[in-house]
Amino acid sequence: MTEALILNGKAIAASVTDEITARTARLAAEIGVKPGLAVVIVGEDPASQVYVRNKGRTASACGFNSITHTLSVDVSEEKLLALVAEMNEDQAIHGILVQLPLPKHISENKVLNLIKPEKDVDGFHPINVGLLGSGNTDRALVPCTPAGCVLLTKRALGADLSGKTAVIVGRSNIVGKPVAQLLLQENCTVTIAHSRTKDLPDLVRGADIVVAAVGRPQMIRGDWIKAGATVIDVGMNRIPAPEKGEGKTRLVGDVAYDEALGHAGAITPVPGGVGPMTIAMLMSNTVTAARRLLGLTEEP
Ligand code: NDP
Repeated sequence: MTEALILNGKAIAASVTDEITARTARLAAEIGVKPGLAVVIVGEDPASQVYVRNKGRTASACGFNSITHTLSVDVSEEKLLALVAEMNEDQAIHGILVQLPLPKHISENKVLNLIKPEKDVDGFHPINVGLLGSGNTDRALVPCTPAGCVLLTKRALGADLSGKTAVIVGRSNIVGKPVAQLLLQENCTVTIAHSRTKDLPDLVRGADIVVAAVGRPQMIRGDWIKAGATVIDVGMNRIPAPEKGEGKTRLVGDVAYDEALGHAGAITPVPGGVGPMTIAMLMSNTVTAARRLLGLTEEP
């Protein structure tokens, strides 16, 4: 049995950000504008702080104008909405991202819905959700993790995914549903599974492409994977790792990786698979948003 191709998300994300740096330089040469990305973080959630720091670092490395607004955990909803409204009108800002989760006293929907759809680089505004759902991906800003999943799938299978069968395990608005829409747009035959799905192992066994977005450590076993299938593991789960010392943990995906290696044709590791792609696709959305807001044509 041949072992699966490991889809190295870190390396692929680095090649995407190299392309973005070149797109940024072209934009500067065309009209002397730098893409501007504003990230808002409320409170001191350590995981969110790490993400926001990485986003800022990558944005600067790509040549963007990168702004981070750090607000205290007790900031009022009104103040946050006022900041979003101000950024909506700021011509130097082309992408706005409000890091989730927000504290309980702030309505996430209210905040996300206020972001101008053209600047909504997370792709969560109902307008962008609708554009993606109706197949208008050329006008939408597409959520970053799902876009990264499709890019990784194409690295494994080539640009043409037509006719492939895809099973997406998970139906969240931020991962499962948009991944399904994107693969449908690529002419895959798509099934979305969830917690009420019957005979999940058999369903997964029929898939050329498996996307796992469940949030349950190693739930998808190796013998569920069809020989040669492409496996994209979105899951990020911390489990105890006593071998590393008392109280230590390690990160695992939703797929039993070591088992799946012997079945899959290609597979993403966790960490180092889908995770790094999310930030790269955020950068890509920001340059796209900048070009559209500036009335420039899209690049191929
Ligand atoms: P959600 O909790 O929002 O959704 C999980 C989905 O899995 C739900 O649709 C749920 O079904 C389904 N599910 C739960 N249990 C089962 C089961 N036993 N069998 C089949 N389906 C099941 O999670 P997210 O989509 O937000 O995230 C999924 C995973 O991806 C998490 O581990 C998260 O940390 C990770 N993630 C990683 C990112 C990255 O950049 N790498 C970005 C975003 C998320 P139902 O709807 O019926 O409840």
